[in-house]
Formats: sequence, structure tokens, C-alpha cells
Amino acid sequence: MADTPPRTPHNWRPGRFMVIVAHPDDADFGPAATAAKWIDAGSIGRLVCCTSGDAGGDDWRTDPLELAATREAEQLAAATVVGYEGVAFLHQPDGALANDLALREQLVREIRTFRPDAVLAVDPDTLFYTDGGVNHTDHRAAGIAAVDAVYPAARNAMSFPWLARDGLLPHPVRRLYLFWTNHADAWVDTTATLHRRIDALRAHASQIRRPEQLEERMRAWAREEGAAIGCAAADAFRVIVIDEDEPVSGESEVAAGS
Ligand SMILES: [Zn+2]
Repeated sequence: MADTPPRTPHNWRPGRFMVIVAHPDDADFGPAATAAKWIDAGSIGRLVCCTSGDAGGDDWRTDPLELAATREAEQLAAATVVGYEGVAFLHQPDGALANDLALREQLVREIRTFRPDAVLAVDPDTLFYTDGGVNHTDHRAAGIAAVDAVYPAARNAMSFPWLARDGLLPHPVRRLYLFWTNHADAWVDTTATLHRRIDALRAHASQIRRPEQLEERMRAWAREEGAAIGCAAADAFRVIVIDEDEPVSGESEVAAGS
């Protein structure tokens, strides 16, 4: 514990960011504390859920449409806790998410409409976690779909040209923040906003089997990530810089505290 942390906290902040995930609750098990921190500092965030989690039940007799409605309501409540300006549900099938052209077009439409500086998504390279477990196929599909939508499709004038004809002009997303990664290279200090992630997760009541253990579990996870930068809590990311920052204008590259 007395060892010097190997890294310093990551302080780049996007003016606008979009979180793209497979299921309601992924963003809250994922980078919600970072999202809350950035929003508190003035960023505008939007959440996109590719599915509505209609296969996320333990009883095969569950009505998937009822479950989807429940989970959308839970995600909307959680998004209010984090502070997103809105949530989009793309209504793709849970358990059968595919990185196909239909999903890519939906994501490009979202990106060109909202025009984020950064997109946060699951690292699609994560098939198995180094500390155990398999990464759900939908998580991997949403991750690679987000990457492919960001680059090149969203910025490419000739991708889905009917979108541009509808006024959705090409947009360059400058960075990817990939979470649930085995190749973390950036840690955001989330000590001040970890409680918002925990409160957001409480909203997903249909998915939390042992709510009494939730807080301690999340604090333990965040503590493990925080050890890299000597903080009580952190979110770990693999950051892909597609476009370097402009050297002069700094309006969306706020390096808070450094
Ligand atoms: Zn999930």
C-alpha cells in the first residue's frame, strides 16, 4: 500500500461523449462513475443501449417484451442518477446482437446526430477476462459495432449517403474509451462519483440478485482499479486516440487539475 502508484490519473475530458453498450445496466456496471464525473464538470453525455435486455431473466416463462419495458424503465432511472441528457434504445435482440450493417447504420445515425468527441464502449478484444470469466457475446458485438461505427463510418461522407441527404453530416469522433479491457492504459479517478454508479446500479432491480452486497462489491472493484493511480476508486480504460487534440483551441480538452 505504501508503494508509489505506477500511473497518474487520466484527466482529458470530452465536451460531449456517448456511451454505447449492449444491455441496460452495462453502462452502470461499466463507466458510470466516469460519466458522472465528466457530466459534473460540464460535459454532455448520452447513452445508447443496442438491446433492451429482453433475455435478462432467470425464468424461461418471462414475457420478453414486459422484461424489456421493465429494463428500459430501470435504465432511464439510472441515467437520471448519472446525469445523461438522454438514452436511446435501438431494440436489437438480446443474446443475438450482431455487428451487421443495420446496427452500424443505427449507431452512425446516433453519432452523427449527437456528435460526440469521445465514444465509450466495451473493448471488443475482450473474449476472456484475465481475472476470470467470459465476456458476453452481445458485449463484444456492441463493442466492435461501436468501433466500426466511429471509424470509418461516422466520418466517411460516402458511408450510408442517405444519412447525409437527411442532414446527418459526417462527424469525426476523436477518441475511443474502451472499458472491460485487458489492456488498460488510462485510469480515471472516480472517488467523488463512485456513489452515483452504485445508486444507478440500484435502479436495475430486476438484475441485482444480492442488493445488500452491491455496494461493497462495487467499492472493491473500484478500489482494485484505483490502486493503479493511488486513488480509492477508478475506472480503467484502453484509450484509442484517433485525432490528436488541436494545439490551440482547448474548449473540449479540459485537463482538470493538471
Ligand atoms: Zn450486459
